[in-house]
Amino acid sequence: MEESKNGHRWGWVICCGCKDKETVSGTPKNAGTEAKRVRQFIRQHKGH
Ligand SMILES: [Zn+2]
Repeated sequence: MEESKNGHRWGWVICCGCKDKETVSGTPKNAGTEAKRVRQFIRQHKGH
């Protein structure tokens, strides 16, 4: 799992296994929802 950042405004996480990625806003309207989405992505993709 890699995490990339472009300035402080946004970034993304990339699954090393299948190269799928999930964009992450650095300034989300709802930080809780954003964090949950990223955690879900990581959970889905870790282990392959
Ligand atoms: Zn994956």
